[in-house]
Amino acid sequence: MTTDQKTDNQRVPRDFSARSEEEQQLFLTDTWCDHCQQLGLGMREPEEYELFGMVFIEGRCCQCGEPVLTELTEDDFDDE
Ligand SMILES: [Zn+2]
Repeated sequence: MTTDQKTDNQRVPRDFSARSEEEQQLFLTDTWCDHCQQLGLGMREPEEYELFGMVFIEGRCCQCGEPVLTELTEDDFDDE
């Protein structure tokens, strides 16, 4: 119907806690913070969702508390 893909309304929540503990740890520590301009500061309060066919994990930087977004390529979550 509409081709407007600029809204956030198409977010499809995913269950981050359904991932293995190992994976969760990896995603929680393997981060890039735009605000701190540093790798690997870690994130808290992770939320996983799918948008435009891509999977994102969004949380807050452990250091500055600013939003941190990790974009997963298909290889990252469909490697079976
Ligand atoms: Zn930060």
